[in-house]
Amino acid sequence: MTYQVDEAGFYGEFGGAYIPEMLHGNIDHLKNHYTEIMYEASFQKEFQELLRDYVGRPSPLYLAKRLSAHYGGKIYLKREDLNHTGAHKINNTIGQILLAQRLGKKRIIAETGAGQHGVATATVCALMGLKCIVYMGKIDIARQAPNVSRMKMLGAEVRPALSGSQTLKDATNEAIRDWISNTEDTHYIIGSVVGPHPYPDMVARFQSVISEEVRWQLKVKEGTEVPDYLIACVGGGSNAAGIYYHYLDEPEAKIIAVEAAGKGIDTGESAATSVLGTMGIIHGSKTLLMQTEDGQIVEPYSISAGLDYPGIGPQHAHLISSGRAEVYSATDDEALAAALELSRIEGIIPALETAHAFAILDKMSFKPDDIVVINLSGRGDKDLATFTEYLNRETGEHKSDH
Ligand SMILES: *Cc1c(COP(=O)(O)O)cnc(C)c1O
Repeated sequence: MTYQVDEAGFYGEFGGAYIPEMLHGNIDHLKNHYTEIMYEASFQKEFQELLRDYVGRPSPLYLAKRLSAHYGGKIYLKREDLNHTGAHKINNTIGQILLAQRLGKKRIIAETGAGQHGVATATVCALMGLKCIVYMGKIDIARQAPNVSRMKMLGAEVRPALSGSQTLKDATNEAIRDWISNTEDTHYIIGSVVGPHPYPDMVARFQSVISEEVRWQLKVKEGTEVPDYLIACVGGGSNAAGIYYHYLDEPEAKIIAVEAAGKGIDTGESAATSVLGTMGIIHGSKTLLMQTEDGQIVEPYSISAGLDYPGIGPQHAHLISSGRAEVYSATDDEALAAALELSRIEGIIPALETAHAFAILDKMSFKPDDIVVINLSGRGDKDLATFTEYLNRETGEHKSDH
C-alpha cells in the first residue's frame, strides 16, 4: 500500500486528470517534466535560497508549554504563521513560479476565494516580474476587500468572475477558460493539493518542506524524528499534505485531519467534505465532494474562507478512506473559542482556518509523553474583524455604531 501518487496520477481510486482536450498539451508537459525540473540542482538552489531569505524558513518548531500543561502531552507548533505573507501558501507559489520560469511562461493566472492564494501568487509574480491575473468571484471581491487591495498593490490584475454564485468555483472556471485560450505563454498556479494530476503531487512536494523540517527539529528537541500525532486543518489540504508528507509510511505517527463543520455537520451549512462528500469530479480530479444526487456541487459553508472548499485533495480522500488518517471536524464556534484560547494561553493569534486544528484538542486525550505536532498554518491578522465580532458577542457588548 502506498499513499503517494501512482504512475497514472491516482491515489487509490482518487485523483487522475479529467480535463478539457485543449489542456492536454500543457498538463502532459507538466506531468512529464515536473519532478525532473524541481529536483534539478539549480532549481533546488534557488528554491532553498528563497525559502530561507525571502520566506524566512526554517519556520520554528515551538514547544507550547502552557497549551501542553492544559491538554497533556508535549504539544509542538510548526510556525508557518511566521512565513512572509503569513501562511504556508507561499511555499507552493515560490515553487510554482520557479517552475513557470523554467517552462518559459510569461504570464501567470490563479483563482482565489478568500484572496490568500491570490496574494501569495501576486507576491511571487512581483518577485519575479511576471504578469499576474487573479480570478475572483464578484461576491468574494466585495467580501475580501483588504486582500483585493493587497493584490492590486502587488501589481496583479484582479478579474471578477460574474457567473454562477460568483464565488470560488466560478473563479476556477474562469481561470480554466483563460488557460485554454492562452496555453502557450501562461502557467496556472493552483493553490492547494487539488486539480488534475500532477498538481496535487506537485503542490504536496513543495509543501513537504514543512515535514522535512519537523523531522530534524524534533530530532534535536526530542531525540526522535517521529511524533505520536500530526494535526492539521484541511481545506483543499495543502498545509496538511506538507506536514504529513515525510511521515505517511510511518504508522506510529497518527495523522489527524480537521475539517470545518461550519454551523454543524447536519445543518446544511458545513464544509465537512469527507463526511458529507461522495465520489465525483471537481477541478479535474476524482475525489470526495459535496454534491446533490444529480451531481450539482453544493455550496460549502465555513466561517473561515480558506476551508469552505466543496472538495478535498485526492490524497486526503485516499488517506481517510484507507484509514491512514483520522478525521475530526470543528464548528465555527469551536474554532473561534480555540483561536481565543491560543491567543490567551500562548500569545499567538492564529488564522481562523488554523484555529480549527486547535479546536479538537479537547476531544482528544494524550499520554504525558506523547509528542503532538500541530501545523500552525497561518496568522490571524486577516481575521480580526471576525474575532472582534466574536469578542463583542462573548462579552455581551454590542456595537453602538449608527
Ligand atoms: C488557505 C489556508 C488554509 C487551507 O488550505 P489548505 O490547502 O487546506 O492548507 C489553511 N490555513 C491557512 C492559514 C490558509 O491560509
